[in-house]
Amino acid sequence: MNCPRCQSQKISEFDHDGVEFDFCSDCKGIWCDHGELAEYVETLKDIPSDLDPVKNGELTVLRCPKCPGEYLYEVNYMKGEDLLIDRCPSCSGIWLDFKELAVIQKLAVNIDAKDKLKRTIKQMKEDGFIVIES
Ligand SMILES: [Zn+2]
Ligand SMILES: [Zn+2]
Repeated sequence: MNCPRCQSQKISEFDHDGVEFDFCSDCKGIWCDHGELAEYVETLKDIPSDLDPVKNGELTVLRCPKCPGEYLYEVNYMKGEDLLIDRCPSCSGIWLDFKELAVIQKLAVNIDAKDKLKRTIKQMKEDGFIVIES
């Protein structure tokens, strides 16, 4: 596997809190396969903003390390935040700079809290504890 950013082949598996990322030791970037980022930061989806990267993001010059001929698109990680991350439209893998992982970890704490509340309310409705009159 070649690094999408610097084309280095010094990519090695890197275990971070039980999730295995591919880490480039030259540019310090991280490749996350589909679902790995969500697993790591405990969100429901890799990219909570739900924006389509192809419609909402810029095409980058970074090639997907997994899909021949595919380029990554920039996508906004979360509505209202400036953080842009690079994602493959084909395999949904994500490329991050190392410092972006820490930023995402911080943002995800709030997302998770909101999602948890939504899931709790949904469950309470299903169990009949809450009745919404229309
Ligand atoms: Zn690299
Ligand atoms: Zn891909």
